[in-house]
Amino acid sequence: MKIVVYNLGCKVNKYECDSILKSLRQKGHEVSEDLVFADVYILNTCAVTNEAERKSRQCVSRCLRLNPDAKVIVCGCASQNNASQFSGKENVCFVKGVADKQAIVDEIDKKGIEVQELPTIYEDDFSPEVVRTRAYVKIQDGCNNFCSYCLIPYLRGRSRSRAEESIIKECEELSQKCKELTITGIDMSSYGKDIGSSLAELISKLKDIDCRIRLGSLEVNVIDENLLKALKGLKKFCPQFHLSLQSGDDSVLKKMNRHYTTQEYYEKVKLIREYFEDCAITTDLICGFPLESEESFLNTLEFLKKTGFYQVHTFGYSLRGGTVAARYPQLPPEVIKDRCQRASLVAEKCKEEYLKNYVGKTLELLTEDEENGYMSGYTRQYIKVYLKHAKSDTLYNVRIDKIEKGIAYASIIDDKDNN
Ligand code: SF4
Repeated sequence: MKIVVYNLGCKVNKYECDSILKSLRQKGHEVSEDLVFADVYILNTCAVTNEAERKSRQCVSRCLRLNPDAKVIVCGCASQNNASQFSGKENVCFVKGVADKQAIVDEIDKKGIEVQELPTIYEDDFSPEVVRTRAYVKIQDGCNNFCSYCLIPYLRGRSRSRAEESIIKECEELSQKCKELTITGIDMSSYGKDIGSSLAELISKLKDIDCRIRLGSLEVNVIDENLLKALKGLKKFCPQFHLSLQSGDDSVLKKMNRHYTTQEYYEKVKLIREYFEDCAITTDLICGFPLESEESFLNTLEFLKKTGFYQVHTFGYSLRGGTVAARYPQLPPEVIKDRCQRASLVAEKCKEEYLKNYVGKTLELLTEDEENGYMSGYTRQYIKVYLKHAKSDTLYNVRIDKIEKGIAYASIIDDKDNN
């Protein structure tokens, strides 16, 4: 049977898709992660915004255009949030929510509609089979933070940590097969709190892993000297810190139920830079949150400039029914759109300022794919680089020659894999 496992969401979804793919392969099924003709489509959906949820629904129709007789199985956040938006659809035979993805593999040939209770302890996925340059390692699921705009804690349940031994074993195995690992989770910063450990402790146990290690999104409160020292102790740490900001205004942060002030955030960024001079700070920003005044928004723009981010992913606020923020007075869509555009312009300027410091410098590059006649890849800071006359999946030392439209163009100094 040909089965497509398609990801519509984040890196955690991606990890889960990879583990389902591996298990299906082991059972002898022909699998694909692209939307191609298949007998069964497994869609791991996303509910981070209304738009993501709409795309998840639309994806069912896309599958049926490829094969009108196919069975469709839906899992992930959008189906956990509202199973009925999928269960009524033609050919959808199984709706699963976020828990127990193994059941999808077991029940692939059965019919039925089901959404299970949320899990309360960490459920080990099957380790994905890695064939890519970079692999993801999921260390945690769920979230206890209840940011006022976010549905995830309702959909994924409370934070639960994967056992350290299981993570270490997977990192050791993956480091033999790929050149970079990204450690990820829904709220990685809370790693260990339920099992008497911490993110810093876990990282310190990865010190012998001999490949590049990158971290997924962090909450600013997890940044302290212990964590930074543990990261310094890694053999090949990628100093890109994705520190979720969401707003650069204290009154908005409070309404968002984020547990830090802009001053605290800024101090943590300074601390990171003391440990990692050549690091990149990246972030997410929500524009047009309910009750965000023009003055609050201008504070945010100033904060972006002052902090010197490399990348700012800007999102227009998206009302999620059932959250606290859904009950606040909402801003008109045109105000949200306008603020998004203005924030994106400031973000572009920040990126230019950051990147221009690297012209003439030597950086380590890991190449991935061909793109626009170049080999493209990322430095440890996650700077995207284009290179000529290079192989894929290879580590090079490169000199940055110029920056154009947010992309660095570089020349090879040496091939680290063959030295
Ligand atoms: S930290 Fe906040 S935004 Fe992130 S998943 Fe938890 S509740 Fe949602």
